[in-house]
Amino acid sequence: MAEETKEAAKKAPVEKPTNCVKCNKRLQKKRWYYRNGGYYCGKRCWKLASQAAAKKEAEAKKEAETKKKGS
Ligand SMILES: [Zn+2]
Repeated sequence: MAEETKEAAKKAPVEKPTNCVKCNKRLQKKRWYYRNGGYYCGKRCWKLASQAAAKKEAEAKKEAETKKKGS
């Protein structure tokens, strides 16, 4: 009976991205760059994306802090 569970897990589809999440360029087989839950066409795009994400996060944090102090 345990075999059935194993089979089901094996058949679970693996989602593969076709495009870079940053520049939307088509990803080539084996050449994508996976970091922090995102697929990129290269290290450069990941850096750009992580920099943008960090900036956004910092801004959100700042805003939250200002709101806290404001009241
Ligand atoms: Zn890219």
